[in-house]
Amino acid sequence: MFQDITTLLLDPRAFRDTVDMFVDRYTGKGISVVAGIEARGFIFGPPIALAIGAKFVPLRKPRKLPGEVISEEYVLEYGTDCLEMHIGAVQPGEHALVVDDLIATGGTLCAAINLLERVGAEVVECACVIELPELKGRERLSGKPLYVLVEAR
Ligand code: IMP
Repeated sequence: MFQDITTLLLDPRAFRDTVDMFVDRYTGKGISVVAGIEARGFIFGPPIALAIGAKFVPLRKPRKLPGEVISEEYVLEYGTDCLEMHIGAVQPGEHALVVDDLIATGGTLCAAINLLERVGAEVVECACVIELPELKGRERLSGKPLYVLVEAR
């Protein structure tokens, strides 16, 4: 069953409360980068980044970013997919938060963590609105903490 966050966006108070829960958690934690995963990480990531005073870095599907990129392939149930990040967007030693709407198998967040670590950043935490815990995605995050607001079973 597809978990759809677009109904949450129709309720401005619920959307605001959702963003605020992340903002409360990450304010003052020294995070300088919020990396949002295409596409729905682009909905939640930017308001969090603005509120905590961090830059926003989009992690995009192949051939979407105009500049020079590094790429990270990951395995899906059928085939592979890939995330890309602009070279130079994140500097070595920066502290990053990865944001997406949902974690299922964890492959997408794992690719995002790898991209950020390859350029020398430290991933402080991954944050999602929804987790599908039965798929055990958090076990694929190389020990990185995962914070979620809702578990969907
Ligand atoms: P994973 O790589 O298996 O953890 O899948 C997570 C990625 O797929 C995220 O970028 C999600 O946006 C997307 N995704 C997978 N299942 C769903 C769903 O039920 N609802 C919304 N997005 C999903």
